Amino acid sequence: MAKKVKEEHCAFCGRSGSESEVLIPSAIAPGIYMCAECADQIHEILSEYRHQVGGGSSASMKGAANGVPALDKLPKPKEICAFLDQYVIGQESAKRYLSVAVYNHYKRLAQYQKDAAKKKSTRSKKEGESADDVEIEKSNIILVGPTGTGKTLLAKTIAKMLEVPFTIVDATVLTQAGYVGEDIESLLTRLLQVADYDVERAQRGIVFIDEIDKIARKGDNPSITRDVSGEGVQQGLLKLLEGSIVNVPPQGGRKHPEQKMIPVDTKNILFICGGAFDGIERKIAQRLNTHVVGYSTDASKGRIDRDNYLAYVAPQDLKSFGLIPEIIGRLPILTHLDPLDRDALRRVLTEPKNAITRQYEKLFEMDGMKLTFTPEALDLIVDKAIEYKLGARGLRAIVETVMIDAMYEAPSGTRKTFDVTADYVREKLEKSHFELNKDAVKEA
Ligand code: ADP
Repeated sequence: MAKKVKEEHCAFCGRSGSESEVLIPSAIAPGIYMCAECADQIHEILSEYRHQVGGGSSASMKGAANGVPALDKLPKPKEICAFLDQYVIGQESAKRYLSVAVYNHYKRLAQYQKDAAKKKSTRSKKEGESADDVEIEKSNIILVGPTGTGKTLLAKTIAKMLEVPFTIVDATVLTQAGYVGEDIESLLTRLLQVADYDVERAQRGIVFIDEIDKIARKGDNPSITRDVSGEGVQQGLLKLLEGSIVNVPPQGGRKHPEQKMIPVDTKNILFICGGAFDGIERKIAQRLNTHVVGYSTDASKGRIDRDNYLAYVAPQDLKSFGLIPEIIGRLPILTHLDPLDRDALRRVLTEPKNAITRQYEKLFEMDGMKLTFTPEALDLIVDKAIEYKLGARGLRAIVETVMIDAMYEAPSGTRKTFDVTADYVREKLEKSHFELNKDAVKEA
C-alpha cells in the first residue's frame, strides 16, 4: 500500500496529498498519483456499470449475472416450447403464447441493459442521441384454465429453464391495507428471499400470481363471498404490474413501522397470473352467441367448439368476470389451458421428464428393485382420478396410496422386481379413503 506522499497531486482531481487520505502512485509513470477519493469513486462507478450490463464476462444462461440471459444465448420461442414439452402435456396454445412472451420479455431486458450501458458510456454525447427510440413494453401474462391443468407447472418450468428467481404467490392472501391479510408489497418478499436478497436479481425474476380470479370484483360474480373489495386489491396490484418502485418488507407479512423496507423496482419483473375463472365459460358463450346471431355466418357458427368455450376467452370476458380494465390492460398476453382429458391424464402419468411413475421407479431403483406399472394398471389409475374428480393433481395422491405398502415392505425384503398390476391397484384402493369418500364426491 502506498504511503502518504506530501506535495504531490492527484492526476484526476488535483487534490494535494494533504487533502487526501492517501495518494496512490502509478506503477509505470513516476510522479503520477491517484487519490483515495477518486479511487473510491471509480470503484462505485464500476460496480454500478457492472450491475447495469449484467456483470462479468460470462454469456451463458447459467452464469448470466443478475439473472438475465445474454441475448445470443436466449432460447428461441421454439426452443422454449420444446423445453416445456418435456414437462407439460398438451396445452399447445398456452405454450406458444408463453414461449413468445418470455422470449420478448428477456429481449426487452437485454435491450434495456444495452441502452443503460450505452447511455453511461456516451454521457458526453448530446442528449436525445442515445441508444434507441423504440421502447419495448412489458408483456405480463394471464393464464385462464381449470385447476390442475398445468398453469403453475408451466410458469415453474419456464423459470427452471431461464434460471431466474421464481416464486408462486396466492392472490387470495391479499387484502387492502387495513384489513387482515398481507399487503400487496409482500408478494415480492418471497421473490427477494429466493434471490437471496439480491435485489438486482429479484428485479429480473418471475412472479406467478395464482388464483387471480379470486380478487375479481364482487358484484358480477356471486361465487366471491369475501367482504373485502376485490377492486381495492386490484388497484394495489396494478402498481406492481405496471412497474414502479415498491417498498418490500424483507420478512413479509404486514408492514411493521420498525421493519426496514427494501425498495424493489418491478419494471422488469415478469408477472404470470393464473386463475380458473369458474363460470367464465357462460360469459364467453353469451358473448359468442350474441355475435353469432348478430353478425356471423353459419360457417363461423359451426367452427365454435362448444365443449371448450375457454379457447375463445377474450379480455372483455375477464372484465365481465370482475377484473378491472386497468388490470386487464397490464396483462396483455391472454391465453387458456384446456381441460385434461383421459388421454392427457394417461400421458401425464408416464411422459413428462419427471413423470409420477418415473419418480416411483427411481425410488425403487435406489433400493435395487425394478418397478413396473402394467398398462392396465395405468389405465385404472387414470379412470380412478376421473371417477374421484381429482384430475391431474389426484394422480399423484392415488399412486402414493397404491404404493405405500410396497414402499414400506420392499426395502426389507429380497425381491428384485415389483409389478404393479390393475388388480394390485384395485386391491390397494378398495380400502382407501378415496373409495370411502367416493359417494360424497359424486353428490358434490
Ligand atoms: P394449476 O393449473 O392449478 O396451476 P398445476 O400446474 O399446479 O395446476 O398442476 C398440478 C399438478 O398436476 C402438477 O404438479 C403436475 O404434476 C400435474 N399436471 C397438471 N397439468 C399437467 C400437464 N398439462 N402436464 C403434466 N402434468 C400436469
